Amino acid sequence: MVKEFVVTPWEVKGRIDYEKLVKEFGLNLIDDRLIKRLERYLGRNKFITRKIFFAHRDLGFILDEYEKGNKFYLYNGRGPSGNTHIGHLISFIFAKQLQDAFDVKYLIQLTDDEKFLFKENLKLEEVEKFTYENMLDIIALGFDPRKTRIISDLAYAKTMYREAIKVAKKLTFSTVKAVFGFTNETNVGSIFFTSMQAVPAFLESVKEKRNIPCLIPHGIDQDPHFRIARDILPKLGFYKPASIQCKIMPGLGKEGKMSSSEPSTCIFTTDAPDIVRKKVMNAFTGGRETAELQRKYGGNPDICSIYQYYYFLFEEDDQKIFELNEKCRKGEIICGECKKILAEKIEKFISEHQRKREKARDLVEKFLLKD
Ligand code: SF4
Repeated sequence: MVKEFVVTPWEVKGRIDYEKLVKEFGLNLIDDRLIKRLERYLGRNKFITRKIFFAHRDLGFILDEYEKGNKFYLYNGRGPSGNTHIGHLISFIFAKQLQDAFDVKYLIQLTDDEKFLFKENLKLEEVEKFTYENMLDIIALGFDPRKTRIISDLAYAKTMYREAIKVAKKLTFSTVKAVFGFTNETNVGSIFFTSMQAVPAFLESVKEKRNIPCLIPHGIDQDPHFRIARDILPKLGFYKPASIQCKIMPGLGKEGKMSSSEPSTCIFTTDAPDIVRKKVMNAFTGGRETAELQRKYGGNPDICSIYQYYYFLFEEDDQKIFELNEKCRKGEIICGECKKILAEKIEKFISEHQRKREKARDLVEKFLLKD
């Protein structure tokens, strides 16, 4: 029996039934035809072949327009309520691959206002600190500042607010109540906020004074915001933003549990190598109680957090993923060895990322949009 799960822009918990979610949100699956079309530009891409990015709205339209010479731009972002963990990087890594393949502009929004409004105990100064820290993680991924810009809603408020009120004027309380489950006790800033999240989906069109298609690669939990944006933007004379949704990378806890309040369940980009190793070695696996039993009966990669880390980010080769799955089930690899290899891969990735993150401090001004 499928257990209950929750997926909203502010909460993700339980074992997610993606099939159910796709139906509930009214998304389309990326079918073989679209995979082939994407491959023409992206080549074989693990996020697509493994169905990590697996659903979409209007991706066909984006490709049709691109092929007619009407280039799109990319938009996504992050809510800076804490340090960045590895799962947060997926949408940015994939966006970079899209940007490089299609040679398009990219807007990244840091919703500092949202985090202040929605997180009861978070002070504005703390959000601003995380905004800066998160920006370093994004820049460290190697974006080209000539084609990429970062927005902090607070730092770019004058420009953003002017556009957000146009969205807000078309949006009723009953719609946001129905989409987000708000009540009379919800603060008024939170009720307004989705208007700010809609702005980058048409900001490039406003700046260029022509209608430009927008593609948003994002975690499926953010879909409610963009459903609203798709409803409102045509009323303002813009294209509906298209989107491509990814699954949520599970954490290291039991049943993929990941929580910032339990730091052992996720790996932060700022973790020291020994901490990374400790977290990986203590992660929940699909292994047996003893090595002997595992060799005899095999493990279960389907419930294993370590396997998911390989699958989402730390094994490029699809064939090797398939082989790991087989070896695990047959008991040909045991968890200690499997975790050790992963720990080494993540440590290498994190130390390289931290080196680039330090360099990013000098680049912030090149990326950040200001009024
Ligand atoms: Fe997970 Fe690896 Fe153990 Fe299999 S061998 S259960 S994939 S840690």
